[in-house]
Amino acid sequence: MSDYEFFDQVNKGFDRAAKYSEYDQGLLDQIKICNNVYHITFPLERDDGSIKVIHGWRVEHSHHKLPTKGGIRFSTTVNEDETMALAALMTYKCAVVDVPFGGAKGGIKIERSEYSDAEIERITRRYTYELIKKDFLGPGSDVPAPDYGTGAREMGWVLDTYRQLKSDINAEACVTGKPIPQGGVRGRTEATGRGVYFGVREACQNKEDMKELGLEPGLEGKTFVIQGLGNVGYHAAQNMIQGGAVLVGVAEIEGSIYDSGGIDLEALMEYRDETGSIMGFNDTKAFEDNTAVLKAECDILIPAALENQLHADNAPDIKAKIIGEAANGPTTDEAHNILKEKGALIIPDSYLNAGGVTVSYFEWLKNLSHVRFGRMEKRFEESSYRKILNVIENISDRTFTEEEMGVLAQGADEKDLVDSGLEETMINAYNELNELRKRHDIDLRTAAFLSAIDKVGIIYNQMGIFP
Ligand code: GLU
Repeated sequence: MSDYEFFDQVNKGFDRAAKYSEYDQGLLDQIKICNNVYHITFPLERDDGSIKVIHGWRVEHSHHKLPTKGGIRFSTTVNEDETMALAALMTYKCAVVDVPFGGAKGGIKIERSEYSDAEIERITRRYTYELIKKDFLGPGSDVPAPDYGTGAREMGWVLDTYRQLKSDINAEACVTGKPIPQGGVRGRTEATGRGVYFGVREACQNKEDMKELGLEPGLEGKTFVIQGLGNVGYHAAQNMIQGGAVLVGVAEIEGSIYDSGGIDLEALMEYRDETGSIMGFNDTKAFEDNTAVLKAECDILIPAALENQLHADNAPDIKAKIIGEAANGPTTDEAHNILKEKGALIIPDSYLNAGGVTVSYFEWLKNLSHVRFGRMEKRFEESSYRKILNVIENISDRTFTEEEMGVLAQGADEKDLVDSGLEETMINAYNELNELRKRHDIDLRTAAFLSAIDKVGIIYNQMGIFP
C-alpha cells in the first residue's frame, strides 16, 4: 500500500468525530495541525571511521498543555509523515486519559540491528544535542520517552546529555522511561502492556457489551492472538494470561504461529532467545506469512507492533470479536470500517496504549517533586493499620499472627501506587468513552477522538491569540 499516509489516516478518524463536536472549523483545524516539525540531519562517525548521514525528526503536535510528550522511535519506518501522525495520536491519547501534556513524537530512521551499541549511543546523544539547541527538550517544554526500538538505556543517555549541557535542578524530568537509578519510576517498563490488559479486562467486564458480541462476560477463558513480542506485546500477553485469557497465536517478524490449545509464553520467549525465531515452537502450527495468524480463530486480537497492520486486504478475514490496539495506528481507516461493519468492538490505540504515557506522567511528577512515591507515608500507613488491627484484636477473640499482620498492615510502596494509579486511569477512561459511545451511537475510536477534541478544544478556546 504505497499511497498509505499515516497522518491522513489519523485525521480521518478525527474528522469523523469532529462532526459531533461544537467547535467551528478553524478551531478544529488548529487542534489537528502539527505546531512544530523539526527534521534533523547529522553525520555519524561509524566504528570503521566512515561517515553516515542520519535523519531524525521531532514533532510537537499541540502546545495546549506543556510540556509536550511522546516517545522516540528507532526504525526504518520513521519519516516526517509517521512522526506527525504519532505526535497527533499522543495529543489525543493524553487528553483521553487526562494526562496534562501536549502531544509530541520523535524518531530516527535507522535499522538499529545494523549499528553497534557505541554507534547507537553516539546517535542518541547527538540527536539529543540537536533537540536541546532548538529548545525541543526540557522538563517544561518537551519530554521524550521510549518507543519502538528504544528503551531505558537510550533515555538514560538523553538525560545524561541534557545534564551535561544544562544546569537544571529538574533535569531528571526532561525524559521518562529512564533506568530507576537515574530517576525512573517502578512499573514504567511494563506500564503500556499492563494498561492494555486493564483496558481489555474492563471492556470484557461489561455484560451488555459482551452479550452484543455473543461472548461471555469476563476475561477468563477468552482466546487471544498477539502481534509483536516487544516490550508492549510481551507485557500485554503476560498480563492477559495472568488475568485468565489464553494465548493461541503469535505474529512476529519471522513468521506466525497458532495453537488452539494455548501457547506457553515464557517458554516461547526462551525458545526465541535461543533460536532467534518463534517458528517451530512446540506443536504450534507455523505460517511463513508473518501476518497470517491475525486471521486465525480467536476472541481478541491484539496488534502490538507497528502501524498499518490491519488493512483492507486482511480485515475482511479477521475473526476476532474484540480488537485491542496496543500499537499506535495498527488499523487503517478502511479496515476500521470493515471491522466495525462485521460487528467487532475496536478498543482504540488512543485509549488502549495510554498506560505508557500515564506512568510517564507519574515518573515526571516524581522527578519534579524529587521524592519517591510512598517514601513519606508508607511507614505511617503501616503503623496506622497495625493500630486498627490491635483494636480488632482487643474487641474480638481474634489474634493475628505476625505474618498476617505483615500482609494486612502493608503500606503502599512506589510500585503499588503507580499500578493503582494506572488501573484507576484505565478504568475511568474506558467507562467515559463507553458512555460517550452509547450516548452518540458511535464506535469507541470516534468516542476517543470526540473526548480528546472536547478537552483540547476548550483550552484553545480560552487561549489568547498573540500577534
Ligand atoms: N511511546 C509511548 C507511546 O506511544 C510512550 C510515550 C511517553 O511516555 O511519553 O505512548
